[in-house]
Amino acid sequence: MELLVATRNAGKLKEIRRLLGDLGIEVKGLDAFPELPEVEEDGDTFAANAIKKAETVAALTGLATLADDSGLEVAELGGQPGVRSARYAGEQATDADNNRKLLAALAGVPAERRQGAFRCAMALARPGQESRVFHGRVEGIMLDAARGDGGFGYDPLFLVREYGKTMAELPLDVKNRISHRGQALRQVVEFLRGE
Ligand code: IMP
Repeated sequence: MELLVATRNAGKLKEIRRLLGDLGIEVKGLDAFPELPEVEEDGDTFAANAIKKAETVAALTGLATLADDSGLEVAELGGQPGVRSARYAGEQATDADNNRKLLAALAGVPAERRQGAFRCAMALARPGQESRVFHGRVEGIMLDAARGDGGFGYDPLFLVREYGKTMAELPLDVKNRISHRGQALRQVVEFLRGE
């Protein structure tokens, strides 16, 4: 089986490739389609953005397409950065810019009020078939300084309590086992196998 993954985020693609590759599914990235336009993520929810991305790319390529929309929600910040996680510190923000902004927003907030959750909506769109969306969520504590250099995005600030490590300190296989994206992807695989 072959799936096109509609992302230009190298960190996401690496995680998805590892997980699906191990299951014998061949993963193509958008690098195979440099001419495709960017899909604007203007939805209010992770699911709306994931469906829009997956359906647009499936229609343009004619291929079964997976698209993930994901982000970090921090209750103390009213759910921010949320659907704006990639652009929290501005349209061209880097992961480092976003992490700096998050640390500033949480400055002085005690550990017991620093809960965060990564959420993922993973949409599967196939030409001529109804789209499906699968969800994943993992909870953590937002640290007050970065730790680790694996993963991407907010991983160095996201402490996974059970392991006493940040997502950036955990090996990729462990992150994939527990992460929001791993959970959603395993549901995609179960769904495809059940067909
Ligand atoms: P998207 O590409 O619009 O889905 O934005 C996802 C953004 O959410 C990323 O740029 C990261 O900032 C954040 N994010 C999503 N998943 C993860 C993760 O697994 N670790 C760390 N940050 C993540």
